[in-house]
Amino acid sequence: MTSTVESGPVPDIDSDSARRAYELDRKHVFHSWSAQDLLDPMVISAAEGSYVWDGDGNKYLDFTSQLVNTNIGHQHPAVVSAIAAQATKLCTIAPSYANDARSEAARLIAERTPGELDRIFFTNGGADANEHAVRMARLHTGRHKVLSAYRSYHGGTHLAVNLTGDPRRWPSDSGSTGTVHFFPPYLYRSAFHASTPEEESERALAHLEQLISLEGPSTIAALILESIPGTAGIYMAPAGYFEGVRELCTRFGIVLIADEVMAGFGRTGKWFAVEHFNVVPDLLTFAKGVNSGYVPLGGVAISPEIAATFGQRAYPGGLTYSGHPLAAAAAVATINAMEDERMVEHAAALGETVIGPALEGFAERHRSVGEVRGVGVFWAIELVRNRETREPLAPYGGSSPEMNQLVAACKTRGLLPFANFNRIHVVPPCNTSVADTKAGLAILDEVLDIADGFAD
Ligand code: PLP
Repeated sequence: MTSTVESGPVPDIDSDSARRAYELDRKHVFHSWSAQDLLDPMVISAAEGSYVWDGDGNKYLDFTSQLVNTNIGHQHPAVVSAIAAQATKLCTIAPSYANDARSEAARLIAERTPGELDRIFFTNGGADANEHAVRMARLHTGRHKVLSAYRSYHGGTHLAVNLTGDPRRWPSDSGSTGTVHFFPPYLYRSAFHASTPEEESERALAHLEQLISLEGPSTIAALILESIPGTAGIYMAPAGYFEGVRELCTRFGIVLIADEVMAGFGRTGKWFAVEHFNVVPDLLTFAKGVNSGYVPLGGVAISPEIAATFGQRAYPGGLTYSGHPLAAAAAVATINAMEDERMVEHAAALGETVIGPALEGFAERHRSVGEVRGVGVFWAIELVRNRETREPLAPYGGSSPEMNQLVAACKTRGLLPFANFNRIHVVPPCNTSVADTKAGLAILDEVLDIADGFAD
């Protein structure tokens, strides 16, 4: 029997309006990261919790959290009413004024960030958070270069895309001087010929130390690292690596920026993914889960030392919508709902007791599965044509007919999958029920039977 998602009450969907949305989209909307003429976007007409409905009323379990941002699921009533209440009270106010929604959001974030990162600069999203973090680091150190990892993503603006270590950087890799990439630890495809996590960690740190000395420590302002890299493959650093990076940054006076845009706010079963390591960064960037993306918001949490640099000297940067009240009110309601409903604990338990064991089972049963890895509601399944050679089911930086077929098979069964290159990521909202999570995993299990047909 083919698994599908349970049918429930279908929201009132106006298929004429959905058709018009599609037609106008194809006529007027220019989409991100895409060849415009090849697009066939699904119209989403309704969403609730872990589910979305398309324009024809078909229901899908959202195992993507969209772009891994709806950590509390769709249309959480407390957040929807907080946005409505804020809209009635005060829609917008310039960043130079103090505002209750913004102040409270800053307090709630500062109380959850590690160490003393308790000054918050608000941005509109993740890329500009990273842009500002680098600017702060450069002005704080008086140095220019920034180190970042291959197999990383830091955003689509000019500097942020230069920091990025995946193929989205290549077409725009011009002009932002001083970005230097290093190899992060990634044992499954080790750049260091390592065969154990210990070797990978040690060798990746030795490589980084050598790179720092060859680049000249006195020229390096910052090192930016996703606490757990997301779109690049959800690969967690082996024991000791992150701590080693912290030590190198401290030793050489380099500002350590932890990018928590995707991994933060409960995704990994902790408020922030750096909590899995014994590390406090100097700057921590966030977006997405801070308010589940209900209204665009991002930011930088700043250490006292860096904040002090801008105590008597103006910080040369700002945004019209920095700490926008609607976005801030959504953040306050999101963080409170996550706390009240124990969503972070739930995400941790889903990873430990449901997703992790199911994925381990996939790795045993399906010859197309090369590796599974993750934590909380943040998991990757690495698909290969051959387990010995580890040849990926799609090339690095590309897709393949086989991967497209697997995505289509998920959708036919009512599951929205997050696919990137040869990987399927399992990234449902933090508050997905155990039953829904199991239903989604059962669909993936069947789809992996198809994938096995592509593997020797
Ligand atoms: N950093 C990481 C780790 C991300 O995953 C993303 C987006 O996916 C960004 C930064 C950029 O965030 P935004 O798209 O909000 O600019």
